[in-house]
Amino acid sequence: MIDLGHSAGMRREGVDIAPAPSVAARTSATADGPASLDAAVECRNIVKTFARGHVVALENVSLSIRANEFFTLLGPSGCGKTTLLRLIAGLEAQDSGSITVNGLRLDGLPPFKRPVNTVFQSYAVFPHLTVARNIAFGLEMQRRPKREIAARVEEMLALVRLDGLEARKPAELSGGQQQRVALARALATQPRVLLLDEPLSALDQKLRTGMQLELKRLQAEIGITFVFVTHDQHEALTMSDRIAVMNGGRILQIGTPEEIYERPAARFVADFIGETNLLAATRIAPRRYRLASGLEVGAAEDATPVDVTLAIRPERIVIEEPGAGQLAGSVDQVVYEGIATTYHIALSDGSRLRVCVQSRESARRRLCRGETVGLTLPPEAVKVLTA
Ligand code: ATP
Repeated sequence: MIDLGHSAGMRREGVDIAPAPSVAARTSATADGPASLDAAVECRNIVKTFARGHVVALENVSLSIRANEFFTLLGPSGCGKTTLLRLIAGLEAQDSGSITVNGLRLDGLPPFKRPVNTVFQSYAVFPHLTVARNIAFGLEMQRRPKREIAARVEEMLALVRLDGLEARKPAELSGGQQQRVALARALATQPRVLLLDEPLSALDQKLRTGMQLELKRLQAEIGITFVFVTHDQHEALTMSDRIAVMNGGRILQIGTPEEIYERPAARFVADFIGETNLLAATRIAPRRYRLASGLEVGAAEDATPVDVTLAIRPERIVIEEPGAGQLAGSVDQVVYEGIATTYHIALSDGSRLRVCVQSRESARRRLCRGETVGLTLPPEAVKVLTA
């Protein structure tokens, strides 16, 4: 849906009013070479500044989003993710670079001519219209036949599970139901790409989890490309086919949730996604690193720079009997979290490691504050970060 920043009466949405991409448009694309044909959205060398160049929101961003992909732009506040989404929607114009959707170059096209729709954080449904009229809105703007609109509204109501509520006004709906109306309205015109800007952040946690599953189901069922913006790493990991992790106007890594979590390419990514232990270290031999304390750790991978950061997830560290393992430490804090317990272990140099043990495991032997333990850091779980 639905850009309420534009006059509702003027806004026409949906793929059918966008010109069909010509063969030339599908293959010519940019000066940097042709856009790839299986990419639903292709951004090339996007630069966007604000305040007459003083704020650089996007710094030469390139990415290629595949057709039917659930693609997430993830990063902290101010990293540029909303700006990138607004550029694709046509709500802002980039300083340089190009954007294509299904091979159609969008540069210069007004929002209503782009084959994309947007769902915003604030549901932005029309308060004076019923659920059915809200969903029908884009189709009415396109002057579709009445019978087609009625059939499509019915289909959308079933898709977002709002059957029976079509005569209600938004004020008579819950937040989650209003967001479903917004989704149905955005999907009714069959956009090729749906842009979602933190669409679940106004919902409470339980509803939010439910809607995450719902969105995943919807995307699989209708098979269109979703470009989803969030700062919530858990949401990104659970919903996405692929994630672009952004910081400071740049993309640091693009990968599947597993790749991003298991093989972070940069210290920022390791730190931002999930819990991780970061240890400054020096390479002393191939696949061998020395921590500041003088303790040595092996890793399965090698790095060329001397100064590196070792990253290891808390659940990958193994607690051993005292004297066993590579490192020795003492339990400084025990945090019981229901399905798991996190132990904060103080090492001899004063640094701390977090070690997460599933409750099923920790029930066998509970550790207490002050206890001495050994720790094993399996080399294959130690990620060597150079950036
Ligand atoms: P959030 O999660 O807080 O929405 P974001 O990652 O979506 O953050 P953007 O809204 O894309 O970040 O903003 C990127 C940068 O551009 C920020 O530094 C922001 O202050 C700046 N910015 C965005 N819009 C404007 C504007 N209209 N004028 C000036 N600066 C802007």
